[in-house]
Amino acid sequence: MSDLTQQIATLFLAQKQDWKLARDNYAALANVQTRYFKEDGKNTVLQFNPERIRSSAAKIDNASLNARPCFFCHRPEEQKSILYNDTFEILLNPYPIFQNHLTIPLRRHEKQQIGPYYKEMLDLASDLSGYAIFYNGPKCGASAPDHMHFQAGNVLAFPLVRNSREASKALVWQGKHSALSVLSGDSPVVLQFVSTDKGEVASAFEKVYNLMPVKPGEYEPMMNILTWMEGKTWVSCIFPRKELRPSCYYAEGEANILISPATVEMSGLFVVPLEKDFEKVTYVDLKKIWKEVSIAETEKNEIILKIKEKI
Ligand SMILES: [Zn+2]
Repeated sequence: MSDLTQQIATLFLAQKQDWKLARDNYAALANVQTRYFKEDGKNTVLQFNPERIRSSAAKIDNASLNARPCFFCHRPEEQKSILYNDTFEILLNPYPIFQNHLTIPLRRHEKQQIGPYYKEMLDLASDLSGYAIFYNGPKCGASAPDHMHFQAGNVLAFPLVRNSREASKALVWQGKHSALSVLSGDSPVVLQFVSTDKGEVASAFEKVYNLMPVKPGEYEPMMNILTWMEGKTWVSCIFPRKELRPSCYYAEGEANILISPATVEMSGLFVVPLEKDFEKVTYVDLKKIWKEVSIAETEKNEIILKIKEKI
């Protein structure tokens, strides 16, 4: 176990002992109810987690954000951290959806944006053994879009990690030590980098990022990202998005499903805070959610074409 992995394990033990909120919520997670779908040749998981209401129903308009103290800058006294480097620190997420759920905020208050920090995401993936690192864009599930942060959870808790090994892929770009593919199949749009060279993949990511469309009034392309290691190889999945929330989120009556997709949902683990949804949701509903929040087929093809032409 590396020093950092050991420090994180110690942080978990200490926080569960000394911080009641964390202790109670991690204990509750052990009894969380789960449903499994095996459809379209892949696994998808539904988790009933009432505490998730905080992020599923989070208000992220400017007025709401300005009216609340930033929860990374103003932390409960009990919440401890590990300094990761000069830029980021590591905290326990007190509202977990994984047995080991970390938040990794920037050590200064600055808007959520991946552009300058993708390389740090790759560093985190190689330094945090056993974890997948994820990024939710400011309009793609981040509940603190005003303060840059990553999250991390147990790598095998993300169905995509296993599913992508068997998924068929179409190659989009090949570098010396890296490749970019698009995953096939009836799921969200996934662009997947596989690389053994951090510098090369970071530079390719920057180019892809700059080719993706940015909506008027926004400052970065809408996306979620999940990054993990397979041995000495980085695997990084980008989910280009077009909507923050699916139509069922806003629907009334029976049609309503309170799911606000972030990286976790795009990766095949859907978390519902309401019991009525946990019981009624079908795989068809989940596919519809992916489709509505992902970019459309035509947009996907346009991005692929640009990548092929320009990278
Ligand atoms: Zn802050």
